Amino acid sequence: MSEVAIIDRSEWGARAPRGREYVSWDARTEFIVHHSAGPTTQTVRSIQDFHLDGRGWSDIGYNLLVDDDGNAYEGRGWLVVGAHAVGHNRSGIGVCYIGENNPTPAAMVTIRALYDEACERAGRRLSAKGHGDVNETSCPGGELHDWVHDGMPTNGLGGDNDMSLINLTKGAGPDTGEREHVIALQSMIVKAGRRDALGDAGVDGRYGDATAEGLRLCRADVGSEAKEGWGDRVSGHAYSQLHQAVMRQEIREVLAEMGGSGGGSAEVPQDLTVRSLTAQRISVG
Ligand SMILES: [Zn+2]
Repeated sequence: MSEVAIIDRSEWGARAPRGREYVSWDARTEFIVHHSAGPTTQTVRSIQDFHLDGRGWSDIGYNLLVDDDGNAYEGRGWLVVGAHAVGHNRSGIGVCYIGENNPTPAAMVTIRALYDEACERAGRRLSAKGHGDVNETSCPGGELHDWVHDGMPTNGLGGDNDMSLINLTKGAGPDTGEREHVIALQSMIVKAGRRDALGDAGVDGRYGDATAEGLRLCRADVGSEAKEGWGDRVSGHAYSQLHQAVMRQEIREVLAEMGGSGGGSAEVPQDLTVRSLTAQRISVG
């Protein structure tokens, strides 16, 4: 099981609860996302103080909390009945984003990881909801609400999936939650010397015809057949060839700097490797 590292109650200095009621995983059917609607600097202890002293509850209301650094905190914990959503405290695990509506990518990645872990622990898929889906409230704000309803995607949020360029397909961009990935792809095309293919839009995070053509040309540059349409998806081969194209362009620039090989227009031989380049550098220098 992929377990999220959770800062436990003793670590954040929790006060003792006035009482606790437990449920089993069988009773859990929902994962309910909230925001605290306070500043992102709010401490978990201050939220607990407010719920104990201000609200008169038996403990902090939420089961778990997440801050902008992506830290997860134990509130009541996975299987204690919470006080976060009227009528849904037995069925729902309440997870609170500390802040108002606009979580960082790190916070979103952690919320999603908690959801995945909850599903694993429950042994089935829990229904992901925003607080506003079950009670009359604007919590957790529009952005978080929409993200939960989109299935809590973490593509492009800088999570641990650094091979995520693979399978990126024409049409990807801000609308598909893949803007950052497309920027990475386009930046590689630029580094491979095919900035012109991207046209006026340049590195804009949208994988359209220009980006597809740029990828196709990069593949052609390293000797791929690169037929029509070969830039429409970052296949494994395309990814590898794109890397090769970037490396060849870097070699080309080094050769130009050394000045001994006809400058930037130098034809880089297909079989040029770092080893042969090093040999050439030694012979020149
Ligand atoms: Zn809420």
